[in-house]
Amino acid sequence: FAASGGGLVAYADARAEAAAESPGVAPKKKVVVLGTGWAGTTFVKNIDSSLYDVQVISPRNYFAFTPLLPSVTCGTVEPRSIVEPIRKIITKKGGEIKFWEAECFKIDPENKKVYCRSDIGTNLEGNGEFLVDYDYLVIAVGARANTFNTPGVVEHCHFLKEVEDAQKIRRSVMDCFERATLPDLDEEERKRTLHFVIVGGGPTGVEFAAELHDFVSEDLAKLYPTIQDLVKITVVEHGEHILTMFDKRISKFAEEKFQRDGIELKTGFKVVKVSDKTITMENALHGESSVPYGMAVWSTGIGTRPVILDFMKQIGQGNRRALATDEWLRVRECENVCAIGDCATMSQRKVMEDIMEIFRFADKDNSGTLTVKEIQDVLEDICIRYPQVELYLKNKQMSDIVDLIKASKGDVKKEALELNIEEFKNALANVDSLVKNLPATAQVVAAQQGNYLARCFNRMKDSEEKPEGPQRITKMGRHRFLPFRYKHFGQFAPLGGEQTAAQLPGDWISIGHSTQWLWYSIYASKQVSWRTRALVISDWTRRFIFGRDSSR
Ligand code: FAD
Ligand code: MG
Ligand code: MG
Ligand code: MG
Ligand code: MG
Repeated sequence: FAASGGGLVAYADARAEAAAESPGVAPKKKVVVLGTGWAGTTFVKNIDSSLYDVQVISPRNYFAFTPLLPSVTCGTVEPRSIVEPIRKIITKKGGEIKFWEAECFKIDPENKKVYCRSDIGTNLEGNGEFLVDYDYLVIAVGARANTFNTPGVVEHCHFLKEVEDAQKIRRSVMDCFERATLPDLDEEERKRTLHFVIVGGGPTGVEFAAELHDFVSEDLAKLYPTIQDLVKITVVEHGEHILTMFDKRISKFAEEKFQRDGIELKTGFKVVKVSDKTITMENALHGESSVPYGMAVWSTGIGTRPVILDFMKQIGQGNRRALATDEWLRVRECENVCAIGDCATMSQRKVMEDIMEIFRFADKDNSGTLTVKEIQDVLEDICIRYPQVELYLKNKQMSDIVDLIKASKGDVKKEALELNIEEFKNALANVDSLVKNLPATAQVVAAQQGNYLARCFNRMKDSEEKPEGPQRITKMGRHRFLPFRYKHFGQFAPLGGEQTAAQLPGDWISIGHSTQWLWYSIYASKQVSWRTRALVISDWTRRFIFGRDSSR
């Protein structure tokens, strides 16, 4: 308590001093953004930098277009084509935003400070470490690769998360091919060297496997004719199928295509150990087995960054995997801190948790019962605050919750219907089962959250006189800010051979060459700048005409 009081006093003093320097002008609030990925960059692009003193901290001074990373691994697209310097993005906004190339290694919410370290500043005073204060903190540090503590993974496997990873994979693929052609190598060793193993049958692993298969069959087979038959690609997946986050039809199509392409699928196998030349896996039927490999890519999902683990411990979220936020993307139980993108999970409040409050809010005449009119008057608010109610009504093909309630009470006249709290509870008993969880890792979620939060910040400033910042939002009633809602537009799974599968809203599935063209056009249009768009399109064209570059 003393510590937090002290911190607040120091902060208040600093504000008073700053105000004294330029009387009449309130100092701008400091917004510190951690991360320049999808979430952080979208926030920075949309925040009104004339309203806040915005500072961005990230160990990379660029934004990377991650959906094209698998294409970088085989040279379909060049790494420089998918990155945009963060300073370019900032400068377009009038240059009022500051950027520090550093990693945040500790967050101190009590004193509203973040501790940062810069690798390139280690010979400076303080060994490259510095402190930054904030009024509002936006955490957008993303996630890291998850090894599930499997021994040998960090030492021997490639990850596919950053641009550097994709570049390393590309070099390593070429190394394997050159190595396999060296004289005096026995057949077994050549085979081992040309065995590419992908651990994880999610979208990234599958896309990489497909990309590698295309690279080998379209480009390398011609250049390495003597060893082309020794190449083998294996995908190891712990679950029963690959691409389980997609519709069954897509996952089946992918499995069949891989079979035709000669990509081996080992589903139901869990990798338990990796050494420099063999991968050991376990299966319920076959027990443990080891296979020799030349190169392995580990892509089994995401884990939590150490700085977030430490922060979660401090704020009592120690047993979680990602930062819990409310629907306004504010970190729970932590003032003035928001979290967006892969490092956070937004949890939707349940109707049942708030049922008493909802009842009281709706019961305008305090009669202890709700009339049809009373319910109708607040239904829109309820649907905004609890999207599961809207889904429930939609699923039932009814526009009116009252019909539903009426059905449960027999044939009563609509106008005369009144519900007590128990009946109201029963009517809504099943709605919470419809809460939709957002995908844990998705560029679309991260970008929509960055955009949403920037808009909240931009509007928060207009109401400075009667402050109604994000912390003042009441649970019900007219909201100053609507809660964040994810808009789902669909999801792609590129499968190689100019074929892509897409799952569009409303259970629409589309697979094939035309979907590949849809993919090309959407990913071209989603590029962050005209420069990267031009580069990516010219890379694709170059690949169509000349093939991929196979130099190391
Ligand atoms: P990131 O984009 O990872 O950004 C995190 C940022 O924080 C980075 O700038 C990082 O340098 C910085 N940072 C890290 N640590 C610190 C620290 N301690 N202090 C300060 N800054 C820090 N999603 C899709 O929807 N569609 C796809 O097709 C798709 N394809 C993908 C392919 C690959 C290979 C990968 C890896 C991901 C793909 N994703 C895709 C997922 C998508 O990239 C992520 O969901 C998205 O990047 C999350 O955004 P973010 O801002 O939370 O994190
Ligand atoms: Mg980010
Ligand atoms: Mg990113
Ligand atoms: Mg998230
Ligand atoms: Mg009433």
